[in-house]
Amino acid sequence: MMKKGLLLLLFLSILSAFSQTKKANLSPLQKLEEGNKRFVSGKPMHPNETLERIRELKKGQHPFAVIVSCSDSRVPAELVFDQGLGDIFSIRTAGNVIGDYELGSIEYAVEHLGCKLVVVMGHKNCGGVKAFLDSKGHYEESDHIKNIVEYIANEQEEKDLLKDGKISFDEAIAANVKHGVKLLKTSEPILKEICDQKKVIIIGAVYDIGTGQVIFNK
Ligand SMILES: [Zn+2]
Repeated sequence: MMKKGLLLLLFLSILSAFSQTKKANLSPLQKLEEGNKRFVSGKPMHPNETLERIRELKKGQHPFAVIVSCSDSRVPAELVFDQGLGDIFSIRTAGNVIGDYELGSIEYAVEHLGCKLVVVMGHKNCGGVKAFLDSKGHYEESDHIKNIVEYIANEQEEKDLLKDGKISFDEAIAANVKHGVKLLKTSEPILKEICDQKKVIIIGAVYDIGTGQVIFNK
């Protein structure tokens, strides 16, 4: 009886070690996909939130992905991808717009922290994109929201869609994501070079605030 119990224990520990190895071998994108599946299923693991993790990270950070997402309170990358401390280098602006400060932050994460994946993640019902649509690209107020609208409008894809007059909310969100990905892939001198050398993957994604699901543009 005792022997049987020991064998079961041994089997379980081998199984656990195997699953740990499998997890460690996931690519950055797979880690995000797996985490989002857990989040959507309502069974998040909330990994890397312990005091031990905080102490471990004191030595340095090695986040595996950069997520450029909206400041919208419904779009926190760590929760959406069920990740914890030290996992994601997070950049958030309304409308996930990318200017010089954001570019500098992304370059830092890729060049100095070794991130191999950058995701530009838009989301459904984005207020920043709605401001662009409502103003038809010509925001009249003199506040700083104007800068966000001008960023979104300053891209041929969005301009063409606006010209047709048939642009849907979802199309504008998708176009804004493509805009961000293109901007990063062509950003000189750092990101373009690293991306051309295939040392980093830059992709877009859209988060559905109604279901919690993230669809990647793979
Ligand atoms: Zn938004």
